[in-house]
Amino acid sequence: MSKSMYFPCPHCKAPSFTRSVLHESNLRSELRLQCSDAECGHTFEVQTEVLYTIRQSAIPDPGVCIRSVTPMERVNA
Ligand SMILES: [Zn+2]
Repeated sequence: MSKSMYFPCPHCKAPSFTRSVLHESNLRSELRLQCSDAECGHTFEVQTEVLYTIRQSAIPDPGVCIRSVTPMERVNA
């Protein structure tokens, strides 16, 4: 599984990379990230959560329930 996710450092805005996964479920993850700028070196934790489905999966997990919205509904939410 790829742990790729773009999240900029809140201090210097450089890309950060995942140091470790603290908690992971189907809909939510808590990650420890580290700034890629060696001068900055900021290490921090983020929480990510699946909010909406924009396009349905072709291989859906019956145990996963995510609210569906169209891109226009999302813009107007
Ligand atoms: Zn930084």
